[in-house]
Amino acid sequence: MGFHHAAWFFRHEDRLEVEAQSPPLPEFWYTATDYMVPQSYYRCWVEVDLDALRHNVAAIRRRIGPTVKLMAVVKADAYGHGLAQVGSTLMQCGVDAFAVANLSEALLLRQIGGTGWPILLFGSALPFEVAKMVEQNITPTISTVDEAQLFEEEARRRGKAVNVHIEIDTGMGRVGFWHEEAVKTILQITALRHVRITGLYTHFPSADENLDETRRELGLFQKVVQKLASKGVTIPLLHTANSAAVLRLPKSHLTMVRPGLLLYGICPTKAPFGEFRPVLSFKARVAYVKGVAAGRTVSYGQTFKAKKTMRIATVTAGYADGFSRHLSNKAEVLIGGRRCPVVGRVTMDQIMVDVTRETHVQCGDEVVFIGQQGDARITASDVARWEDTIPWEVLCGITKTARVPRIYRGVAAA
Ligand SMILES: *Cc1c(COP(=O)(O)O)cnc(C)c1O
Repeated sequence: MGFHHAAWFFRHEDRLEVEAQSPPLPEFWYTATDYMVPQSYYRCWVEVDLDALRHNVAAIRRRIGPTVKLMAVVKADAYGHGLAQVGSTLMQCGVDAFAVANLSEALLLRQIGGTGWPILLFGSALPFEVAKMVEQNITPTISTVDEAQLFEEEARRRGKAVNVHIEIDTGMGRVGFWHEEAVKTILQITALRHVRITGLYTHFPSADENLDETRRELGLFQKVVQKLASKGVTIPLLHTANSAAVLRLPKSHLTMVRPGLLLYGICPTKAPFGEFRPVLSFKARVAYVKGVAAGRTVSYGQTFKAKKTMRIATVTAGYADGFSRHLSNKAEVLIGGRRCPVVGRVTMDQIMVDVTRETHVQCGDEVVFIGQQGDARITASDVARWEDTIPWEVLCGITKTARVPRIYRGVAAA
C-alpha cells in the first residue's frame, strides 16, 4: 500500500488533475510539493533516479550476503532525496528496516508503509515523543536507564510491549552507554517487563578514515555482546556498520548493516566503488551570457577580475538553493558536456560561470552542478572537496522548498 502517493511526483504536467482525484495530502507531507510548478518554469531542480537506488540496494545485498539484514538510513529526508519516494521504493525493494533521526520522518514512513517495517529512531527520544512512539511502534534508541523506564511506563499504560535498541558508545562520544558500563545497565533494563531489547548497536566515528581504530571499537562492542551472553542475555539484532564499514570491514556486518550514503550511490572514502550509481542530480539553467573585458570584476566583493576578454554565463541558482557560498571561485559546473569554473562569489539566486571556451552556450542551456552531462560527471564528493566539507552535507544542503523541486525517475506503478 501507499505507493499511489508517489503519483504526485511523477508527471508534473498532470499534477493538478491527479490532485483533484486524490485524497488530501498526509499530515507530514513536505510543503515543497504544494507549490509545484510546471517543469518548464523550473530555474533549478533535483532529479532522483529511483532505478539507481534499486541498483544500489542490490549491490549492498551482494556485499553483505543473504543472511545479514539491511536497515536503510533515510534520515534528513533521505539525505535530501525525498523521504516519501525513497521510502516507498525501498519498501518495494524489501529492505528489512528503516532508521530516521526525527519523529515526523518516522511517522511519514508509517503513513506510506503501514505497520510493516521496523523503524529505529537514532538519538535519544525527547520526553514528549515517548507516547507517540509507543503508539506507532517506533523503536527508540535507549541510552539511559531513565529513558528505558519512560518507555516501560508508557507501554504498561497501553498494555503492550515496546521494542528498543540500545546503543553502546565505543568511541563516538555521542549517545549510548559507555561500553564499560553497558553490561550492568543493560541487565537492569532486562528486568523491565514491557521493554524488549531487540537490538544492540554502536556507531563508528571514523570508519572512513581509520580502520584500525574501527576494528578496536568493534572489539569493544563484541566484548559487551559476549559478556551479556555469559549472563544469559542474547539480543537478536547486532549492528555496527555504516556505509564505510559495509565496504571496508565485513567483520562488522554482524546480523544487520546500517548504510546511508551508499544507498544514494556515493562512496564515503576516496576509493572508487564502481558498482554504485549516484541517485541524485542537481541542475539549473543558463539565463544570460555577457562579454566581460579585461580588468572588469565579477560579483560581490569583486573577488574575481578578468585578465582577458571573457564570456560569463549567469546561472539560475545560488546559495538559497543549496549551492554553497563556499564554492565561490572554486567549483566547476557542467555546460555543454564540459567543466566550466565558477567565477566570483556565489550570490543568493545566481552564480557566474566562465564559458569563454564554450562558444555555443546560450540562454536556456542546462547546467549540471551534480550529475552527468555527456561524458562528464560531477559527484557530490567533488562538490564536497571544493566546499571543504563532506558529501553528506552537500546532499542534505540542497534546499527543500518550491525553489528546488524534486523530479523522480523510475517511480513504482500505483
Ligand atoms: C547516519 C548514520 C548512519 C549512516 O551513515 P552513512 O555513513 O551515511 O552510511 C548509520 N548509523 C548512525 C547511527 C547514523 O547516525
